[in-house]
Amino acid sequence: MTPHLLNVYNRADPLFERGDGSWLFTREGDAYLDCVGGIATNALGHAHPALVAALTGQAQKLWHISNMFRVAGQERLADALTAASFADRVFFANSGTEAIECALKMARRYHFVRGAPERTMIYGFAGAFHGRSYAAINAAGNPAYVEGFGDRLPGYATLDLGDVKAIASAIAASTTAAVIIEPVQGEGGARDVPRALLRLIRGLCRRHGVLLIYDEVQAGMGRTGRLFAHQWHRGIEPDIMAVAKALGCGFPVGACLATAEAASGMAPGTHGSTFGGNPLAMAVANAAFDIIAAPETLAHVRDVAQLLRSGLESLRRNYPAIIRDIRGRGLLIGVALHPNNRAFVAVAREQKLLLAAGGDNIVRLLPALNISAADAGEALRRFEASCIAMQVEAAA
Ligand code: PLP
Repeated sequence: MTPHLLNVYNRADPLFERGDGSWLFTREGDAYLDCVGGIATNALGHAHPALVAALTGQAQKLWHISNMFRVAGQERLADALTAASFADRVFFANSGTEAIECALKMARRYHFVRGAPERTMIYGFAGAFHGRSYAAINAAGNPAYVEGFGDRLPGYATLDLGDVKAIASAIAASTTAAVIIEPVQGEGGARDVPRALLRLIRGLCRRHGVLLIYDEVQAGMGRTGRLFAHQWHRGIEPDIMAVAKALGCGFPVGACLATAEAASGMAPGTHGSTFGGNPLAMAVANAAFDIIAAPETLAHVRDVAQLLRSGLESLRRNYPAIIRDIRGRGLLIGVALHPNNRAFVAVAREQKLLLAAGGDNIVRLLPALNISAADAGEALRRFEASCIAMQVEAAA
């Protein structure tokens, strides 16, 4: 491995050359079953023909023109995203972090133009992950990610999901601008936030004029078996929402969605991006949207998630010394372990099964939304083989 890459990742060894559906292949021809999916990103697997056609077709016509001009693909996708959600307005960015950045700026700006510039406080939740920019690490407040980067930014504080009293008083405060929450926490441990808590937060935000931001960068775009994770809960909609990852299925693109009311502070000049929503990104994202939003894709996610979950539950019964708990929603699956999760990921890799580690000692299965039942069954077999190998290692 070259020493010339900035040393911020613990990269695993296989050097992948090619992907096909739920499988990744090394130069030597070894096949790995991919249940990482680029961290919930390759939602239609690798080299999906419709996405390849969209990207290569657009590449021959027009790559980039800047947001000084109309971009037809943005208009099409904004119409589709708003028709399928609570939102009226969409801003296209290049990543989840940038979608979050837009959401946070929008929330403060909303209060500013209403004559309440003192409303700047943004409350996030322990265990959240919103990205790596200064604003994103401060909004999530994970001590490991803010350490060493100077003073905490003013106007951010972290709440505990279990502390209803603190949540209520934070939202009631006259300086509060917004609350940001992942309806299903991804990196933090595949925690599905209880409906009652989301409902409480929604109600309190409405009562006190505070904007509610959902981070659906990981849980959105079909991952849970609904187009957006919060759509499992009728009537608990946000004012602003960030999506990314599966939006471009591996092509870098993010989006910040908002109601017309929440977006009303954003005027020309208040925000922007050179690359955000360029024709290449939009060609792929539109093609991906058409497939992911189709009812049969979402029904498949629910079916295959059920298959994986019931398989994992029976593994939990058979390997209680290895598996603690099964969490998450849909195909955002967290398996909480007794042994070290990173050691388990390495053991699974020896079984040619790719898993992602996460907070609270979980491993995540984040397969393609279109993973076949046969490949899901194979993932379970390899997961079981990993449990056995882990037990053997522990006994040795
Ligand atoms: N929000 C959530 C919930 C995420 O899972 C991530 C990435 O893992 C981000 C935001 C940041 O997205 P990106 O890495 O595309 O900037």
